[in-house]
Order: sequence, then C-alpha cells, then structure tokens
Amino acid sequence: MNEFDLIEKYFNWKNQNLDALGIGDDCALITLEQNCQLATSVDTLIEGVHFPKNTCPADIAYKALSVNLSDLAAMGAKPKYFTLALTLPKFDEPWLEAFSSSLKSLANQHQIDLLGGDTTQGKLSISINVTGTVAINQALLRSSAKVGDIIFLSNTIGDAALAWQQIQQNIKPSQNLLTHFNRPKAQVALGQRLIGIANACIDISDGLEQDLAHILKRSKVGAQINLADIPLSPEVANYLKKTNDWCLPLAGGDDYQLCFTAAPNNLTAVESLAKQLDVQLTPIGIITQDLGLVRLGDFKQKCSAYQHF
Ligand SMILES: [Mg+2]
Repeated sequence: MNEFDLIEKYFNWKNQNLDALGIGDDCALITLEQNCQLATSVDTLIEGVHFPKNTCPADIAYKALSVNLSDLAAMGAKPKYFTLALTLPKFDEPWLEAFSSSLKSLANQHQIDLLGGDTTQGKLSISINVTGTVAINQALLRSSAKVGDIIFLSNTIGDAALAWQQIQQNIKPSQNLLTHFNRPKAQVALGQRLIGIANACIDISDGLEQDLAHILKRSKVGAQINLADIPLSPEVANYLKKTNDWCLPLAGGDDYQLCFTAAPNNLTAVESLAKQLDVQLTPIGIITQDLGLVRLGDFKQKCSAYQHF
C-alpha cells in the first residue's frame, strides 16, 4: 500500500462541516464564518516522551486529538477542523486500523473534521493542528484576570501524574487513573459556555502552578490558592495522605482540566453551569494585587514544574 492508498483507506472519512474542502487537493479550503475568529493550535506527541512505548494505538489517537481539543476549550472556541502529521516506524495495518477508528470516533463526537495531513516513516510521533471558531473578541484569554476574581478548577487534578508515576515504578495503575492518563477528556463544552462568565482561562497541561502562573504573568496580577480546596480524586487524596507529596497534583501535568477566573458576582452562574454540564467546578483561591503565587496550607516546598527542554 502506498501513501495515497493509506490516506484513502484510513483517513478519508466524510466531513461533518460542509464549509470546508478537505483531503484530495494540495491544501484544504475553509470558508470563513462572518464575525468569527479562527483559533488554531498544534501539539505533538512522541513515543517515549508523551506516552510509553507499546501504548495501544486507540489510546494514542484519542490523546493526540484530545490534548489539542483542550487548547481550543481553553479559549472557548468551537472545534471545526484538524490536520494530522503522522510518523510511523513501519506500515502496520492493525495499528493504523485501531488508530484511525479511535481518531474518527473522537472527531465525530466533537464534530471536528480531518482536512488533510502528511505521513512519513520514522520514530512514532503524532502532530495534530486544530482549528476552531470563536465569536470576534470573545475568546477567553490568559491576560484578563482581575484582582478579586475567584480562581476555579474543573474536576480533579493529579490523576494522570499518579498513573505515570506508577507506570514508571512498574505498578499497574487502576483503570480510573489509566483513563485519565490515556484518554484525557478535553473540557470543550465547558470552555465555550465560560464565555461571558470567566475573565481568564487556561488548560492545565504542564501542572496547575505553572499554568496558573501564565495567567498571573499575562494579567499582571498575583494569586492565593488554598491547598485544602484543591479538588482531588480519592486515589490522589490517599496518595497525599501517605506521602504529603503535593508536587504531584500541583506540578504533575497532563490534567487537561480548565483553570479559570471569574468575578465573585458570577459565582452563581458558575455553580449553575457546573450543574448543567455535570462537571465539578471548585473555587481554589483568589486573584490578588500582590504579584506571585501564594500557596496556603501545610506544604511549603517549591515544586519543579514540567519543562519540555
Ligand atoms: Mg494549553
């Protein structure tokens, strides 16, 4: 099978959005909606760096698209299109079959269309570029946090980091932890519904403290967070009881939850959104005038955040 047959067989499925011309020409063509901005982002996953060797292809596909959807979610954008650059060590039909069917299933769930891409031979790596749309000047930014805002966190953090730690120690993580690690759920609906409610927003990919610090820097404000309020799953809470290693949830990364700030008079709106979307939204602190991130609670150690280099 040559490259063109491979694309035709595994990656050329019917588009859901009819305002774009996808696979088949040199470029994809996108018809722009009026009064909208395009939000676009790219993320690469490399075997051995972002997922362990021998991770099943369905999980790899899910994670590769989901972490990109998470960036659209952080800006409140609606997913529309993506392109895929796939580097494979060898041509492997069962692998491609599982990868493409998982990719298609998540794409259809979010009504995002694969418009093109590239396949090459080499060390396993997956690059996905996503494009979404958001009403003009409505996108959630990192730079709009205001002094007095409440800081919220969706669901729980630390689960994926605990799974990764256990894998490295040759302990088999629970199914719940593994799902967080292999199939992080992007908070796409939440992101879009936060427009008009949140002031600033970010998705947590590299750890809460480092990612919240991006909001603080861009907004030129500080923050206080209360460790006792950080939402944790029973498994991570149990791990902390034994080790007091708060760096795991604060700096572990791979959470893909949203951290956002909202004015106190939007608290009721946030609470009702949590009910409507059946997502846990927990206040964990406030935005302050004094620069820097202050942690309230009984863990003073500085955590070294995830660094790509
Ligand atoms: Mg991000």
